[in-house]
Amino acid sequence: MPSTSSVPKIPLLIDGEFVESRSTQWRDVVNPATQQLLARVPLATADEVAAAVAAAKAAFASWRKTPIGARARIFLKYQQLIRENIKPLAATLTAEQGKTLADAEGDVFRGLEVVEHAAAIGNLQLGELAMNVAGGVDTWTRLQPLGVCAGITPFNFPAMIPLWMFPMAIACGNTFVLKPSEQDPMVTMALVKLALEAGIPKGVLNVVHGAAEVVDALCDHPDIRAISFVGSTRVGTHVYNRATLAGKRVQCMMGAKNHAIVLPDAHKEQTLNALLGAAFGAAGQRCMAVSVAVLVGDARRWIPDLVARARTLKVGAGKDNPDVGPVISCAARERIEALIARGAEEGAKLELDGRLPALPGDAREGNFIAPTIFSGVKPGMAVYEQEIFGPVLCIAEAATLDEAIALINANPNGNGTAIFTQSGAAARRFEEEIDVGQVGINVPIPVPVPMFSFTGSRASKLGDLGPYGKQVVLFYTQTKTVTARWFEDDVSTGVNTTISLK
Ligand code: NAD
Repeated sequence: MPSTSSVPKIPLLIDGEFVESRSTQWRDVVNPATQQLLARVPLATADEVAAAVAAAKAAFASWRKTPIGARARIFLKYQQLIRENIKPLAATLTAEQGKTLADAEGDVFRGLEVVEHAAAIGNLQLGELAMNVAGGVDTWTRLQPLGVCAGITPFNFPAMIPLWMFPMAIACGNTFVLKPSEQDPMVTMALVKLALEAGIPKGVLNVVHGAAEVVDALCDHPDIRAISFVGSTRVGTHVYNRATLAGKRVQCMMGAKNHAIVLPDAHKEQTLNALLGAAFGAAGQRCMAVSVAVLVGDARRWIPDLVARARTLKVGAGKDNPDVGPVISCAARERIEALIARGAEEGAKLELDGRLPALPGDAREGNFIAPTIFSGVKPGMAVYEQEIFGPVLCIAEAATLDEAIALINANPNGNGTAIFTQSGAAARRFEEEIDVGQVGINVPIPVPVPMFSFTGSRASKLGDLGPYGKQVVLFYTQTKTVTARWFEDDVSTGVNTTISLK
């Protein structure tokens, strides 16, 4: 292992300059497949956070008035740079996060789609106009940028989720302070570097690193107008409460327990493949991972086939493009292994145990857990109640579609869900009755493309407006309504002491 002094230090970005933090507190960024030390990331000081916000505040004065075409063209250039660099970006992402190279490219690509969307800001930020709302009176709306906005991102999509945030905020005319996940900030920084290369002016995008203290400082800072957060329900709830108390607009996309219903008339091959990909892809560390399969009626007979197919999935370092890479950290692996043990103790049937998989040589160093499947899972068990965020699929059973829908609606989380069926009537009933943000019909991970908005229900989301799509333009702007009359030379309407426009 290299000495810590020879390891790259991740810089902050303040007022257009990449600078080394003066912090005395640093943490390691580690390859989860090998434990190799890749870089050191600072926990920024209070002064550094203040400097980043001050730079963003100063830059807002001119950025808010930058013509919409000039803003859009930066994102046109940015999407091109991301596209040209997708392979090295994915390689960095795989090294620090663990997911397979193919999936890392997907992570960058789903973010790139939001950048493409930001390039269309000219059409997205149009206001409304009504002529003659009273005699000679017109009313229109302006969608004005808010000012300094901040983003706090999780470890599991270190490319896509930062790209959900700063491109749309900046395209709308705001300036931004980003706080990436301290577990894997390297690909985020590579994307930030490309954003500057695309032409984002100094101070418009700033980056501070850190954990709880830095996040709290962003929540409290009086010059920050809005905060976008993506991460766990525990932290998101804290951020929402703290930042709204400080008068900010806040959107928090949070934890999940995503159920997929399988009806007996579903296409068996397609359904089993979809369940496995959605449960074990990214080692189960997606907020939209399917973590509970609810088998209805005779679909219960498919368990042996599902388990047999899960056994064939290959586990290994993401750079070798297996099916399942490592989980993010040793701590995450220990937490997941403990939950698997608890599931067995609490009476769920461990159909497939992925703990301590037999792997060749060096791979034993990594945070690997192979696909794990429980059947007979019921509410009340820890494996059902907690978000495992690892390659563990819980199988629950229901006698009818209505029973399955009731189970999902009784779960506190409402991030994603799916149904597998060939029946349009059943799918329609499910879609209408289910209280979950993202709904898939024979689509296991229904993450919306950027002309729609990501959403969430109940404990999975706080705040009214979601990331990207039309909603985020409203989130990152203030609607101002202007009512105007231009007087004709010699027409007097007299004094109007009523509320009516005359
Ligand atoms: P996390 O909540 O631990 O961390 C998210 C961010 O909050 C990080 O930047 C971290 O530095 C910061 N943070 C951590 N502890 C904090 C504290 N005590 N106070 C203030 N800030 C703190 O989440 P994670 O483990 O990085 O990501 C996984 C979680 O994110 C899962 O729950 C997953 O479901 C969720 N997630 C949700 C979505 C969605 O769109 N709903 C998308 C991706 C991930």
